[in-house]
Amino acid sequence: MSDASEHLTEEEEVIAPEPEDQSDDSSGDEAAGDTEMDFLRNLFSSSLGLGSADKVLDELTLEGVAEYIKSGKCENIICMVGAGISTSAGIPDFRSPGTGLYANLQKYKLPYPEAIFQIDYFKKHPEPFFALAKELYPGQFKPTLCHYFIKLLKDKGYLRRCYTQNIDTLERVAGLEGDDLIEAHGTFYTSHCVSFSCRQKYNLDWMRDKIFSEDIPRCDKCKSLVKPDIVFFGESLPVRFFTSMKMDFPRCDLLLIMGTSLQVQPFAGLVGRVSKSCPRLLINMEKAGQADPLFGLVGFGGGMDFDTDKAYRDVAHISTCDDGCLAFAELLGWKAELEELVKQEHAKIDSLAEQEKAGESEGAAAEGSAAPEQEKE
Ligand SMILES: [Zn+2]
Repeated sequence: MSDASEHLTEEEEVIAPEPEDQSDDSSGDEAAGDTEMDFLRNLFSSSLGLGSADKVLDELTLEGVAEYIKSGKCENIICMVGAGISTSAGIPDFRSPGTGLYANLQKYKLPYPEAIFQIDYFKKHPEPFFALAKELYPGQFKPTLCHYFIKLLKDKGYLRRCYTQNIDTLERVAGLEGDDLIEAHGTFYTSHCVSFSCRQKYNLDWMRDKIFSEDIPRCDKCKSLVKPDIVFFGESLPVRFFTSMKMDFPRCDLLLIMGTSLQVQPFAGLVGRVSKSCPRLLINMEKAGQADPLFGLVGFGGGMDFDTDKAYRDVAHISTCDDGCLAFAELLGWKAELEELVKQEHAKIDSLAEQEKAGESEGAAAEGSAAPEQEKE
């Protein structure tokens, strides 16, 4: 993993497929069961920019994509999601530059704002990161309608995989399991001791307690720092991101991109890895990922094309992710089912939160003190 493109970078690299000649032994095993010829054809067409560009959508609209799904020709949907799918859950955009977060970092006296998410800085000065983690820690983890739409895709057998840039664990809360998910930028769900000889694993509750008690998390075994498993700048993306990507994208029948402006590599470059015929639907507040000669995004057919005369497979639905998913579900005839799923799951989360609250206030009453994490300076 020495290739620079496998590290998290900001807007620096062009959207272009990775070379396929990297040694990667693990990907071959998963191929069994699929049509090898289709797979190979798509693999070559996506990695070499060759192959036919069949038009599979009757119209480049949400309706057109819904009809395609209903036609039965669409079996493997890959979701690519970013911070925009979690904003309605009240989750702040934790890391992306330009979101206002960096402007609030002066008090931590960082040499430069991005240092707070840089691994070398963190190992020497973990305090700012954990202070920020406490400040930004979500009050509750309640997935959005968009998260449940992805769960519905899974339940109905369409979901090949969900590639997320988010670290908020809401996909898991919504019911996606480890195999359904590629957490490209890692997750807060687990943490590990940073010592290479130890690597003791810790869960979210353990980390949450440390963050709220303003204790710098130290390993119970070796006293080294413990870091949430989110990918810092300067760290490699999870190996599964690369192995799964190579198997998933050539097989994709529909790429559903939601809540991301496609600016962080190598994640953004995934859009260029599906076959040339594969429709790509973007549900986002603005168009994103378009081929732009100024930024060198041309070549390999990777950039999105919603509007030119040559547009034949890319659809932009400009809305919030929740509104877009609800409209999409309605066209698919799934609206009532989706709304019921959201209602039921949210009720479950609320009742769990009530129970916890009751438990906490009993505990607090016994100790004669208020719950400390409610205080804010
Ligand atoms: Zn340790």
